Amino acid sequence: MIAVITRTFQFRIYPNSQQLSKLHQTLGACRWTYNKMVEKIRKEGFQTRNDLNYFLTELKESEQWLYDHHSKMLQMVSTQADGAQKALIQLHKNGYKTGNLKFARFSEYNTFVYNQSGFEIKNGFLYLSKIGKIRIILHRQFPVNHTIKQITISKSKSGRWHACVSCVIDTILPKISIAKSVGIDVGIKNFAYDSAGFVTPNPLNLQKMLKPLARVQRKIARRQKDSKNRKKAVRFYQIIHERIRNRRKDFLHKVSSLYAEKYNVVFVERLAKLNMVKNHSLARSVLDSGWGMFTNMLDYKAMLVEVPAKNTTVDCSRCGNAVPKSLAIRTHRCDVCGLVLDRDHNAAINILKKGLGIFNIKLPQELRKVTPVEISMRSSKQEATSFSEW
Ligand SMILES: [Zn+2]
Repeated sequence: MIAVITRTFQFRIYPNSQQLSKLHQTLGACRWTYNKMVEKIRKEGFQTRNDLNYFLTELKESEQWLYDHHSKMLQMVSTQADGAQKALIQLHKNGYKTGNLKFARFSEYNTFVYNQSGFEIKNGFLYLSKIGKIRIILHRQFPVNHTIKQITISKSKSGRWHACVSCVIDTILPKISIAKSVGIDVGIKNFAYDSAGFVTPNPLNLQKMLKPLARVQRKIARRQKDSKNRKKAVRFYQIIHERIRNRRKDFLHKVSSLYAEKYNVVFVERLAKLNMVKNHSLARSVLDSGWGMFTNMLDYKAMLVEVPAKNTTVDCSRCGNAVPKSLAIRTHRCDVCGLVLDRDHNAAINILKKGLGIFNIKLPQELRKVTPVEISMRSSKQEATSFSEW
């Protein structure tokens, strides 16, 4: 079976000073346009994307300087504003308190998009229409049969520039077999627990870095607003944040590659994303945001299939008996069939079962045999150390 998949690669770009100022001007133009659109939405209510594109044409008539920018790129701002207003409506529907659509602040607006046209990557340079030829480091090869659809240029908090290149690729889908399939349960206590009993703990390195992060955060809070020292602290904070992000990404790449090597298909739970964003604890939020990235990576390295999250922790993976348990209870104990298993392991097997069920494959009994918790924990801990010590 042949399928078309989308993959995004991120590359660092090195603009010269002239290009740098052009990049900043482009960001500025996009933000200005975006805020004009927000203003219109606030005043007149919901606008379709066509409305917004028409509005953009009107804007250009009075603001001739907008012609200095790639027109398709500016149109992507309509798409963005449209997405923002829809997201707000969705939040409201989900019972969240929502106000007006927010204007984009300077510090928050860091990306612009070239879609379908106006770009080319050639001989170590990224050509962007109306901006120029920027040096790009292609640290990895594009897969065969790829077509570049979109390039997102972004500026990181510490001032680095990147190009996120989205491609569509024609690939052959793997055959689904039990041996090459795995269910993964992601959690707070352990980063991942899979149906084969393999545990990947949360990386210690990340948790260690949360401390300096919190320290700088307190420093920022103590210092006077708009003071030089505060700005310095804010910059330091952003550098640490970026470092955490990079390390987390590295960790996720390692774990996902490992799974992609071993398996063709990976099943995960469909997570309620809104619920995860809601919590305020620093540690949680840092770890949380890794899950989405992790599943993205799995999706392009192997094949990812999401299954409904319903009852995966409750049901007994061997006999299907419902064993409700609170979050504090770490072990699954089934009174009907006598299965004793780590709760996350039980959930992972259920995820695998559900996933295979989608393809009409039944998990045979021997794969669901009792695995005493102690043994599975010990063996998997040894294997897992390779990850916690990177
Ligand atoms: Zn049971």
